[in-house]
Amino acid sequence: MSPRMEHDAGPTSRLAAGLFTPAATAHRAGDGHALLAPVLVLNASYEPINVCAARRALVLVLKGVAMTEEENGHFLHSARVAMRLPSVIRLLEYRRIPHQSRALSRKNILLRDRNTCQYCGTVLPSSELTLDHVIPRSRGGSSTWENLVACCHACNRRKGNQTPIEAHMKLMREPRAFNLHTSRHIMRLMGRSDDKWRKYLFY
Ligand SMILES: [Zn+2]
Repeated sequence: MSPRMEHDAGPTSRLAAGLFTPAATAHRAGDGHALLAPVLVLNASYEPINVCAARRALVLVLKGVAMTEEENGHFLHSARVAMRLPSVIRLLEYRRIPHQSRALSRKNILLRDRNTCQYCGTVLPSSELTLDHVIPRSRGGSSTWENLVACCHACNRRKGNQTPIEAHMKLMREPRAFNLHTSRHIMRLMGRSDDKWRKYLFY
């Protein structure tokens, strides 16, 4: 194995090291990075929860913690076995993901919405954006991740005390809690080269 692969060596990777050194090699010439290829990790419920390196994914499969749902077309050979490298794995037991939602704040809403008015799409400095309650507070709308969006002053005035439908204004996208939204986004970016991820990330 190349020294680079030792980078992600955690406690569990010793298992893979034991199984695959010293004779282990990725199948084709130039595939030394195959073990570092990103693998999508699904919860037992098929919900995407993480991305890890193929090497770690393989360890999870070998330990019986996860199973391969999709393969990436590469093989890993050792003296004794040839293993297909996974592209998507799924945990066999449901793992409760701690709710690490970020604090609801103006700064984080603007960060989530990338300083883009969610009605007209204009990108502005934070000082020129306000927060819009999609369902106005006076109509029972709450101050939550799902009901607050970045909004320019012009759109905010135009919308006034109306719902988007009443104001004939369409949201660019449905507002979501920060963590789920951003982590899915990052997973999508990483998985752009891997078609096998798509069905799990709801493209
Ligand atoms: Zn606007």
